[in-house]
Amino acid sequence: MSVRVGILGATGAVGQRFIQLLDDHPTFDLAAVTASAESAGKTYREAAKWRVDTPIPDDVAGMEVVATDPGAVADADVDLLFSSLPSGVAAEVEPAFLEEGYVVSSNSSNDRMAEDVPLTIPEINPEHLGLIDVQRDERGWDGALVKNPNCSTITMVPTLAALDEFGLETVHVSTLQAVSGAGYSGVTSMEIIDNAIPHIGGEEEKMETESRKLLGAFDGGEVRLHDAEVTASCNRIPTLDGHLENVFAELDADPSREEIRAAMEGFESADLYSSPDQLIKVFGDDEPDRPQPRLDRTYAGGMGIVAGGVQHTAAGIKYNCLAHNTVRGAAGASLLNGELLVEEGYV
Ligand code: NAP
Repeated sequence: MSVRVGILGATGAVGQRFIQLLDDHPTFDLAAVTASAESAGKTYREAAKWRVDTPIPDDVAGMEVVATDPGAVADADVDLLFSSLPSGVAAEVEPAFLEEGYVVSSNSSNDRMAEDVPLTIPEINPEHLGLIDVQRDERGWDGALVKNPNCSTITMVPTLAALDEFGLETVHVSTLQAVSGAGYSGVTSMEIIDNAIPHIGGEEEKMETESRKLLGAFDGGEVRLHDAEVTASCNRIPTLDGHLENVFAELDADPSREEIRAAMEGFESADLYSSPDQLIKVFGDDEPDRPQPRLDRTYAGGMGIVAGGVQHTAAGIKYNCLAHNTVRGAAGASLLNGELLVEEGYV
C-alpha cells in the first residue's frame, strides 16, 4: 500500500527530520512540501537551512516548496499531511486543510488539549484515536486531526505508563532540554553557550496537562484525565538534540528497583513500522551515569526512550529518562501517528 503525504512547515527543525524519516519509508511517498511565503517557489535545497546529519535526499532537494494553503497543495493529491508549523500559524491553517477533508497528523501545540482531538502515542493510548469519530460529528470535518505531545512530555510519559501498574500518584520532573527543541532560530548562541536557562515558555504547563490526557481513560465519547498530580520544571541547556529528564514519582505500591526496571523494559511496543522492538531501554546500577544525550539519543534510531538511575527516595522513587526530541519527540511521533491512522483505516 502506498500513501501520498505532504509536510506543512517542511523547512524547519522538525520538518527536516520528517524528510529524513520519510526517505525509504515503505508506505509513505512524499508528494508536497510547504513553508512560509518567503520559501514558496524555491527548491527545497534553496529554502531549507539543512541541519540534519544525513544529506537532503536527492528526490527532495529539487522539489518546489509551495505555500501553506489547501489550494497550493491540491495538485499533489496527498492523502495525509504531517504538520510542523509554529503553533500560531497551525491554529489558523490546519482547520482550512481539515475542512477540505485532509487527515492531519500534527506536532503543533494548538488543540492538543481540545476535548475532541486525540493526543496520541501509539504505544501508550492508540484507543484515543476513537475521538476522531466524535470530532467529525462535532466539527463536521471529513478530515481528521490527531496531535502528538510536546517533546518533553513524550520523553517521560512512556516510563509513567509503565509505572502505572504500581499506582501512579504524583510526579515531579525537572528537564534539561536541547536547543533544537526551540526550532532552528529559537535560541541564539549568545544566549545558550556557557549557560543554562531555567524557563521555557509554556513548557511546564504542557508537561503537566498533556501527560494526564495521554494516561487518561477513553470511554468512547471522552477522555478522563489521569488522577496523578504532575509538576514540571523546564530548563534549556546547550546540547543539540536529546532531552534528559529527572523524574521523582510517588506510587501506591512499593516495587523494588528490579520490578521497576522490569516494568519499563517489558512495556509493550506497537506493531508499527517506526515503533522500536523495545520501547524503553533501562541502564542498571553498573552504569549510573547513563542515559546521556550524546550517547543515547539515537537508541532505536531515535525512536526509543532510555532510562536509568532508578533509586528509592524518602518519598517514592527517582530515575532519569531521555529521548531524541526532534525524532521521538516530534517528527517520528507524528509519523508513527500517521502509521496508526493508516492501520486503523482513517487514511
Ligand atoms: P522551525 O524550525 O521554526 O520551523 C517552522 C516551519 O514552519 C518552517 O518550515 C517555516 O518555514 C514554517 N513557517 C513559519 N511561519 C510560517 C507561516 N506564516 N506560514 C507557513 N509556514 C510557516 O520550528 P520547529 O522546531 O520545526 O517546530 C515546528 C512545530 O513543531 C512547532 O509548533 C513546535 O512547537 C513543534 N514541536 C517542535 C519540537 C522540536 O523538538 N523542535 C518538538 C515538538 C513539537 P520557513 O522556513 O519558510 O520560515
